[in-house]
Amino acid sequence: MIERIPQATAKRLPLYYRTLQHLYSLGKNRISSSEFSQSVQIDSATIRRDLSYLGALGKKGYGYDVGHLINFLRGFLNQDEVTEVILIGVGNLGTALLNYNFHKNNNTRIIRAYDIDEAKIGKKIADTPIYHLDDLLNGDNKHIPAAILTVPASAAQIVADKLVLTGIRGILNFTPVRLSLPDHILIHHIDLSVELQSMVYLLKNYPLNPLDK
Ligand code: ATP
Repeated sequence: MIERIPQATAKRLPLYYRTLQHLYSLGKNRISSSEFSQSVQIDSATIRRDLSYLGALGKKGYGYDVGHLINFLRGFLNQDEVTEVILIGVGNLGTALLNYNFHKNNNTRIIRAYDIDEAKIGKKIADTPIYHLDDLLNGDNKHIPAAILTVPASAAQIVADKLVLTGIRGILNFTPVRLSLPDHILIHHIDLSVELQSMVYLLKNYPLNPLDK
């Protein structure tokens, strides 16, 4: 097993994996490093370096064998093993994520959701049961590595503090709040409004000119 790879590399590998799966589904069995680079929008030197950490895998003048690379990354990313996560806050976004449930290209599953709204508790969304937040600490979540946080901003910190007590190690934070948590908790922050706003800003101020390419 490969020991440690740089964090930036580890973050890019799922993207490589997803892109390769897509290419494979389109019938691509072999891809040049420049084609791959265009598909993932990452320069080919970075890709080469990332893959070299894994002991992989391109051949000069041949490029990459797509099936081989998918198998390799699947093993590396533990895609044969299902990772179970939980979700807190079954509002509009939480509901959408429960319906989506990463079925298409990932072996991560949301297995339980939590809320405080009595009207939602006891129901299921896409087969995922919704429990009361008070049940969060009942021991069921001891082995759950990560949680998705889709509560309103006003509840984000208090719920996150509670999540830490379950033994969780990572939070995918969809709230706009910058959480303050112990150092051993990995926080990935996804603020969809900020992403959209910054893209619109870039489009307005720095439009890409197709003729520049
Ligand atoms: P909706 O239209 O269902 O209210 P929304 O996304 O606009 O969705 P929000 O106010 O963002 O609603 O709340 C998201 C969800 O988080 C709701 O289902 C709400 O009941 C739930 N929620 C609010 N506070 C907490 C809390 N402290 N713990 C867990 N869930 C909470």
